[in-house]
Amino acid sequence: MTTRIPHWINGERHDSDDRRLGTVYDPATGEQSGAVVLAEPADVDAAVAAATTVFPAWRDTSIARRQAILFRFRELLEQRKPELAELITAEHGKVVSDALGEIARGQEVLEFALGFADILKGDYSVNASTGVDVYSFRQPIGVAAIISPFNFPAMVPMWFFPIALASGNTVVLKPSEKDPSAAMWMAELLTEAGLPDGVFNVVHGDKVAVDALLEHPDVASISFVGSTPIARYIYETAARHGKRVQSLGGAKNHMLVLPDADLDLVADAAVNAGFGSAGERCMAISVVVAVEPVADALIEKISERMAGLRIGDGRRGCDMGPLVTREHRDKVAGYIDLAASDGAEIVVDGRGVVPDGAPGGFWLGPTLLDRVPTTSAAYIEEIFGPVLSIVRVATYEEGVELINSGAFGNGTAIFTNDGGAARRFQYEIQVGMIGVNVPIPVPVAYHSFGGWKASAFGDSKAYGRQGFHFFTREKAVTARWLDPSHGGINLGFPQNT
Ligand code: NAD
Repeated sequence: MTTRIPHWINGERHDSDDRRLGTVYDPATGEQSGAVVLAEPADVDAAVAAATTVFPAWRDTSIARRQAILFRFRELLEQRKPELAELITAEHGKVVSDALGEIARGQEVLEFALGFADILKGDYSVNASTGVDVYSFRQPIGVAAIISPFNFPAMVPMWFFPIALASGNTVVLKPSEKDPSAAMWMAELLTEAGLPDGVFNVVHGDKVAVDALLEHPDVASISFVGSTPIARYIYETAARHGKRVQSLGGAKNHMLVLPDADLDLVADAAVNAGFGSAGERCMAISVVVAVEPVADALIEKISERMAGLRIGDGRRGCDMGPLVTREHRDKVAGYIDLAASDGAEIVVDGRGVVPDGAPGGFWLGPTLLDRVPTTSAAYIEEIFGPVLSIVRVATYEEGVELINSGAFGNGTAIFTNDGGAARRFQYEIQVGMIGVNVPIPVPVAYHSFGGWKASAFGDSKAYGRQGFHFFTREKAVTARWLDPSHGGINLGFPQNT
């Protein structure tokens, strides 16, 4: 039986016959589990109209009331997150414990956003000039559109919407059409928490829905997360339509291992960060850059750990689940073929994996490649699957140069016991998020998330103070209340006295 997944507009399900539908799969069985309604421009219009209509009332809702609603949402989420995790596993494929992990990281942003009253307090200068006070405060920007990827159907929307809502904006979320149910679940929970109808809306869809949002005159901002080619398109198109835009793209994250590193720690980190969520994380490690002579010993330790991984249905307590779709699995497997034909050595081959799951699932086991040529597309391009490449270098400098020569700049890590080397690395590396003996350095909610180069377009990162900055705009007021010092006519440019 397949579930029909409609839009969520103005506090209710929004559907009608003769709609275009997208197929939602259970990746662990390969069977269709849902049919998602794909928006036409008229559906996007309806969602933006709902969000536009209620914006003034939500903007003017008191801080105390907005806080109470979001706090209630946080309480309901805390109680019911196992339901959400189950939905994520059923459509994305990641194991349940990992789905709970992504919810926890999203909830962290929600909890940070609950402190918005303090963050959005303005500045006030008394007597900037004699008898003149200057103050500034921030106001919401209007209807905020969020376009999210398949790999974190709960966390990535939560990077943005708690902060957008707390700041007094209304939201239209366009989640990935591959795993749309998490967004619907959160929309219903927000309504249950007391969020007024129309403040948070969900439209499902493909390029048609995205283009309608990018071009809509009543959409104030676009927050996008996805692959680099689309991120670049979103940035350019949204900017051309006069919108505020933050657009996060793809990644190819390297882990630099110095000869003095603790190789057991490195092997654990490489396996966790390479194969967690089947490598479908923008902060996954996909390349281990081993400064010789450590590569052989490291490969042995990584291989031992890989042999112990259980691959299978995420509902069965396995370590790693399937990939999201058959096409994506085939594309990732294609990179293994390509790497081999370009001269890489396949140390562990995931193509023959025997999973604990249905034969029709989108399976690909963890794969380890050694001596991957840095000219191969398998090295250069984002693979986004459970494929870990080893590249051997002779020196720290060679490793840094290699990492800096890549197109992406999302995350990276250095493993060493040498504090001076780590300090130098964090300064020299052209990457936005850096781990020092930490493999997936996703910043906590009160810092901000975002990469460099082809991993992010626009100058604004997700969440943290930068998130509040993105979803608000500042006004500065210069005020004088008349008193006997009123100075009469003076056409000169105002100077402070
Ligand atoms: P994707 O780019 O295919 O899709 C992202 C969103 O864009 C989806 O909502 C999708 O419906 C929409 N979309 C797809 N094609 C479009 C088109 N032609 N025009 C307009 N919109 C379109 O990405 P994905 O496969 O869902 O997610 C994986 C990618 O996201 C990876 O590249 C990964 O690195 C990246 N990602 C980056 C971050 C980050 O923070 N930098 C975080 C998570 C994922």
